[in-house]
Order: sequence, then structure tokens, then C-alpha cells
Amino acid sequence: MSTKPNKIWFDGKLVPWDQANIHVLSHTLHYGLGVFEGIRAYKCYDNRTAVFRLKEHIDRLFSSAHIAQINIPFTKEEVRDATINLLITNKLVEAYIRPISFIGAGKMGVHPGENPIHLAIAAYPWGAYFGGDGVSRGIRVKISSFTRMNVASFMTKAKVSGNYVNSVKAKLEVTSLGYDEAIMLDTEGYVAEGTGENIFIVRKGALKTPPLTSVLEGITRDCTMELAKDEGIEMEAERFTRDELYIADEAFLTGTAAEITPIREVDNRKIGDGKPGKITKRLQSRFFDVVKGKDSKFLKWLEFVN
Ligand SMILES: *Cc1c(COP(=O)(O)O)cnc(C)c1O
Repeated sequence: MSTKPNKIWFDGKLVPWDQANIHVLSHTLHYGLGVFEGIRAYKCYDNRTAVFRLKEHIDRLFSSAHIAQINIPFTKEEVRDATINLLITNKLVEAYIRPISFIGAGKMGVHPGENPIHLAIAAYPWGAYFGGDGVSRGIRVKISSFTRMNVASFMTKAKVSGNYVNSVKAKLEVTSLGYDEAIMLDTEGYVAEGTGENIFIVRKGALKTPPLTSVLEGITRDCTMELAKDEGIEMEAERFTRDELYIADEAFLTGTAAEITPIREVDNRKIGDGKPGKITKRLQSRFFDVVKGKDSKFLKWLEFVN
């Protein structure tokens, strides 16, 4: 989050970065019930800017809100227009976009009562999540001692702010030990996902990713599965264990922030020959072509800003 953008969209108005503030007694700040999204806009090969799968991200924002019972006081159409206008106003050719809907101040207490619901959208330049090196050479990950939240107590289909306490703790744990990212197991001990990314492995030429039980329904996960299908790569959503991850030929993470990032090491064990694998590289290069508008088959996923 390097550069301060000029303006942030806040409850229907464009306000200067320094004035996009909230009250300290905002309900979400205390109890974590807020919903957000992570979206990217890319500079295409023809110099135009396109938001990647904007419709799906806005749909998921509203689904998260539906799950959380947060009644966003704007329509999907208004959120879409606000997002596009924000990119234009801030003259952003590439950006990470962060909408967040949260419960404001009013009555205190766990019950949100009639407290106002807010919606803010920020957009700012943000490079590769794991750096250019991470994308090209792959990253080192470690299984965290923190388990992914059990579906009986957490809503894993929703990007809910409070869920990320688990992610932040796992991230801090493994980065303090020198790793790039944490992988979390589900409560039964099967591999679930990263702190903000879905995970895939390749074994004997076939792709595998955990089913959507205890993991977030990633849009990049969906893209990866679609691209694999198009490439004729065998694909299965099936649980796997940490030792199956150790002996995978290839492994990678997917997410709007992380894009497609190869994993070169898990718990100090090399994956394959310790370099991004063939299928990973194929899907990664296809993905970057798609988001930059170079792939006519998947232009349907781009929403052009200009
Ligand atoms: C956002 C997120 C993902 C990735 O979802 P995308 O739609 O691909 O960005 C995966 N796991 C978690 C926990 C997330 O928060």
C-alpha cells in the first residue's frame, strides 16, 4: 500500500485520502463483522485499463454481505460505476481495488442494532504480492500451527474481516521464521489454503485443489480451473494431505493479490526440482495473457475502463 491515491469513494462521495476516516466506536472495529473484496485492474497490451472479473467480485461482495446480514445501502450497479469512476478520477492505469462494507457507530454492544452501514472503495497501485521474484522463481511456504477456521463457527464463503485474525496470525508466525507464506490445514488435518490464496498441486500431470468446504471460493481459483480445462489438463477438486503436498510435482497459490504464484518449497522440502513447474508456468503465462486482454477467448472476463 505504497502510494496514497488522491481520492477514496466513501458512502457515495469522493473524499481526499486523509479524510476517509471512521469513528472509533464503529461496530466492525470492535467485533469484526465487515465484508470486503480484493480486485485488480490491469494495463492491457493495447494500453487500455481493464478490471478483471469485476462482476464476479461485486457479486461476491454482496454474497458476503448476505451471509453476514449486512445490508449494503448501494446497488451492485452503483458499486460498479463507483469503482470504474474511482480509477478514472485517480488516473490509475493499474490498481488493486479494495471495497469494504462495515457497521458504523451508534449503540455499543454485540448486537449491531440500527447502526449505520457504510461502504468505502479504495484503489491504489500494488505490484506483485510476493514480489517479482516470487512470481518468477516461486516462494517458500510453511504449514502454520494455526488451523483454518472450522465451518461450524466461521463463514468461510464470505470475505468477512474478522476471519482474517486467523490469517494474520498464521502469516506472522511463518514470516517471522523466514518463510513467505503460511498454508493452513482444515480442522481434520487436510490442506485448506493460504492466508489469502487458494492452493493447487500437480501430480502425474493432473491438477488438484481442495474442494470448497473450508476454503474461500476464489475467483482466481475458478479462472485457473477454467484455463486448465481449456488447456486440456486433468483437474479435480479433492482433499489432500500435507504429505501429498510434499511429494507433489508442482504446487502454486492463486488469488487476486497473489495472482498465480509458484511454490518452490514446503516445510523445507523442495517441490519437484525446486523451480516453478511446467504446468504452473503454462497456467501462469496464460493467466497473465488473459488479464492483459491478450487472450480473445477470455475477453469476457475484462471490464474496460477506457
Ligand atoms: C480472497 C481470498 C482468496 C482468493 O480469492 P480470489 O477471488 O482469487 O482473490 C483465497 N483465500 C482466502 C482466504 C481469501 O481471503
